[in-house]
Amino acid sequence: MRIAIIGAGIAGLSAAGALRNAGVEPVVFDKGRGPGGRIVSKRTSYGGIDLGTQYFTARDGAFRAAVDDWRRAGVVEPWVVTPMVLPERQPARAQERLVAVPRMSALARHMADGVDVHCGVQVSEMIRESSDWAIYDRHGECLGRFDSVLLTAPAPQAQSLLAEPSPRLAARAAAAPMQPCWSVGVVLEKPLDVDFEAGFPSSGPLGWVARLGSRPQRPDDPEIWTLHATDAWSEANIEWSEDAAGEFLAQSFSELVRRQPLIRDRIAHRWRFARARAALAESAGYLEHDHLLCAGDWVADGRVEGAWRSGQAAARRLLSLGAEQTGPAVG
Ligand SMILES: Cc1cc2nc3c(=O)[nH]c(=O)nc-3n(C[C@H](O)[C@H](O)[C@H](O)COP(=O)(O)OP(=O)(O)OC[C@H]3O[C@@H](n4cnc5c(N)ncnc54)[C@H](O)[C@@H]3O)c2cc1C
Repeated sequence: MRIAIIGAGIAGLSAAGALRNAGVEPVVFDKGRGPGGRIVSKRTSYGGIDLGTQYFTARDGAFRAAVDDWRRAGVVEPWVVTPMVLPERQPARAQERLVAVPRMSALARHMADGVDVHCGVQVSEMIRESSDWAIYDRHGECLGRFDSVLLTAPAPQAQSLLAEPSPRLAARAAAAPMQPCWSVGVVLEKPLDVDFEAGFPSSGPLGWVARLGSRPQRPDDPEIWTLHATDAWSEANIEWSEDAAGEFLAQSFSELVRRQPLIRDRIAHRWRFARARAALAESAGYLEHDHLLCAGDWVADGRVEGAWRSGQAAARRLLSLGAEQTGPAVG
């Protein structure tokens, strides 16, 4: 069974793992420099800084079992903090918050271990050629012919890839718009004297602040804070330069903590497609058109857990499509 997976984020790697467990070796393509998608850490001279997903939760039984495996493998640990709603300092919802160690990207590296992943490859076309799907990169080069393709790109990117081969699925992707997010790592000269490790500011341009060193196995010297702008601020200012957004959000952080910390460095990242706030909550866990499937957080619940479950559901469907194609053994 020849299966291509587009996207080596949590959904794509979850599907790849499930297929491999069933004896099928998919080929995975990702346009990024490494696997992980939105579960990434920016490599800097201060160590890895988590600028994407900050933590994830595990509610569903199957996902909890996967998390238990990752904990046994030493790639996931609980992050034992209670974020505060700021400036009121009300504790946020109590729940187990999980992080990969020693940085978020470690989880994707672990999941990608042994998988045939080709990074730095952007798929730009999928064409139905008789009973195959042929996929092409952005230079027009054919990457291969496959029995089935699983597309796990964020909804807006999936939408443009789906426009030709499946206007119906493209319309579903269009119905799951994604919010942008400006994320900034602020490196301080001296530790900040505040009474919280992480928080959700209740007003202003920041929606999230967290001290990197409060997470397990992160560097603590120099002290680094991760700041996320709110959906509204990010959307209004997504075309700002990294410098301008970094400076403005670092200043907003100073105002929030009512101190003027000496800032050694700032690392800003623009996420054009960060969160699927209006995810489809598709009951099957995937979308399907003629051996072309879509999975990802936007098909499920907009979170890491949903992306993982969506990948698992898509893998089960791909296996059953393969079994239908092969047909029952005769004689
Ligand atoms: C700033 C931020 C904060 C977040 N906070 C949380 C949180 O607190 N809790 C939580 O649960 N979730 C959070 N999330 C969301 C979480 O990161 C996602 O739900 C999850 O990682 C989505 O995984 P995915 O595999 O569906 O998509 P992705 O991780 O986006 O993976 C898709 C992959 O497809 C690749 N791709 C796209 N187009 C192509 C193409 N044409 N060719 C080849 N490859 C392609 C991309 O490079 C990417 O690697 C956050 C996300 C961000 C950005």
